[in-house]
Amino acid sequence: MRSYEVPRKFPTTVVGSYPKIAQADRAIKLRKSGQISELEFRELVKPAIREVVEDHLWAGIDIVSDGEQARDDMVVYFAERLRGYSSGGWVRVFDNEYFKKPIVLGKIEWIEPMAVDLWSYASSVSSGRPVKVTLTGPYTMLEWSFDLHYRDRKELMMDLARAIRKEVEKLVAAGAKYVQIDEPALSTKPFKEEADMLKEALDVVFRGIEAKRIIHICYGRIEKILPYILEYPVDQFDLEMKNSNFRLLPYLKEYGYNKEIGCGVVDVHSFQVESVREIKESVEKLMREGFIGPEKVYLDPDCGLKRLPREIARAKLKNIAEAARQLREEW
Ligand SMILES: [Zn+2]
Repeated sequence: MRSYEVPRKFPTTVVGSYPKIAQADRAIKLRKSGQISELEFRELVKPAIREVVEDHLWAGIDIVSDGEQARDDMVVYFAERLRGYSSGGWVRVFDNEYFKKPIVLGKIEWIEPMAVDLWSYASSVSSGRPVKVTLTGPYTMLEWSFDLHYRDRKELMMDLARAIRKEVEKLVAAGAKYVQIDEPALSTKPFKEEADMLKEALDVVFRGIEAKRIIHICYGRIEKILPYILEYPVDQFDLEMKNSNFRLLPYLKEYGYNKEIGCGVVDVHSFQVESVREIKESVEKLMREGFIGPEKVYLDPDCGLKRLPREIARAKLKNIAEAARQLREEW
């Protein structure tokens, strides 16, 4: 495989998800209805992954992803592939009629690789560029599942952490260099006890792992738990910044932030494509605070791009890459 050198300053990346290519939707439906096996499913999904990677390459992104094309839902995908969850059948949550939770009926255990095959495929079509792995984290798996077995949140979460750890080990053995744990549920309960509980789980997931360890957290009042999460055993926090107009900045400075940051510079809820100039101004706002150097700043969207039309997602990524190119000459 050709090797690709990720720029030392302002590397560009994605959070993970990308608009679904029609072929991937078809594959997911066939798999759900039991018409095809898991192996056939992966083969059917690969052309969609290739299209996503090609979009990322076209835009000029340094660290790409498979666009999570195989995942209909970030929790259900893993629930369907771990032991302990009911096969099919979800609980419909009353306070949100659109939200279905998979049910935990037994001890959670890792059975076989869930993301390795498709990560390897994406890597084989990325022209040597590294492919970021995204895995739904133990806290979000816990919060967005319905437990009928453990009756103890922490016990369930630690078993989820052990299962995710297995997957991380397999991915790193296969060559993954960037491993991101997604925890969107954390900002829905921004309390010290919750943040501390996740720290214990992350110790299990990441201890001794030799890869870039990243956690993605987005939206909500993260500043309320910032002092606690800054202790997490990760190299990088990937954060939504643009949508909240960089509200977190003074807090990061105040708490002596010294890890890498994956800095969200485009809003995934807006169809408006941020200009190169606007993106540069956002990054300059961060740099002017003076607590972080350009080699620790990764540029990416606030969150996954799955809800945007593909053309808009592509255009946003292209402007991120162009802004990074110009910023490298100035910083
Ligand atoms: Zn997010």
